[in-house]
Amino acid sequence: MPPIGADSQIEVARSIESLRARVDGWRADKLTVGFVPTMGALHRGHLSLIAKAASLADRVVASIFVNPKQFAPGEDLASYPRQEARDLELLASAGCQLAYLPDAAVMYPPGFQTSVAVAELSKGLCGESRPHFFGGVATVVCKLLNQARPDIAVFGEKDFQQLLVIKRMVRDLDMPVEIVGAPIVREADGLAMSSRNAYLSAEERKRAGALNRVIADVARDLENGARVDTALRSGRAALEAAGLTKIDYLEARSAENLTPLGPGPLAGAPARVFAAIFVGKARLIDNWPVGGDRG
Ligand code: AMP
Repeated sequence: MPPIGADSQIEVARSIESLRARVDGWRADKLTVGFVPTMGALHRGHLSLIAKAASLADRVVASIFVNPKQFAPGEDLASYPRQEARDLELLASAGCQLAYLPDAAVMYPPGFQTSVAVAELSKGLCGESRPHFFGGVATVVCKLLNQARPDIAVFGEKDFQQLLVIKRMVRDLDMPVEIVGAPIVREADGLAMSSRNAYLSAEERKRAGALNRVIADVARDLENGARVDTALRSGRAALEAAGLTKIDYLEARSAENLTPLGPGPLAGAPARVFAAIFVGKARLIDNWPVGGDRG
């Protein structure tokens, strides 16, 4: 984390009108605008997206909105960590000029009834156990991009399926914004940073560190020519041996369009290993590229 500067300054917009007034002002001054949507409870992963946006655009807007439409009843909407004052300081020190914090009534006023569905890419992986999820994400991101009208928007590869869903939506709906992916930021033991890691007890947190090691091993086995079915079977066994027994999914898929791969060895097209597990109260996801850049 960058130091939290007592003198860091950030402007806050809570309405579409005040967001647009500021962004339109920048545009009139010929400045480009980068946008980073978040649900808050910020960590270094989020801040890396701010830094990337700042490297690509003259001004950076970040939104903090815990989107009710992407939570199913019984999920953690009510308990999702909220820390607005700290988040604003972190955003300011990471190079963000404007924080957009709409409340649910701004985003979904009475009578709201439209949703955006990215049909194929939303199936499988996280879409399997969270069927409501990508519809909620695509709808809110579509609205946020229409509200802020940025030149670029940055999303983390941590949520790789989400990144592809958003890229597809922007292409399909001719939205005038460039979607940029950013690599996964990890803790010292390799655990992907996540706001939900806060749900883990010390013992669960220690166990969770095996997730990234296992998917990296599966990716390495696939790189070395192992059959997909064999590599995934060993991966499952390794997760279970590490005490990560509640496996939602462990799969190898195309990194371009998420087509499932296997059961034989990979044919050479870009692939990625994807996993989701339940640990204590948390559901953790991670993914690892087969070959190429280590993400
Ligand atoms: P969230 O607040 O969890 O909705 O995430 C907001 C954005 O931050 C999404 O684009 C995520 O993919 C991204 N993000 C979350 N965790 C990480 C991480 N560990 N590394 C990079 N990006 C991340």
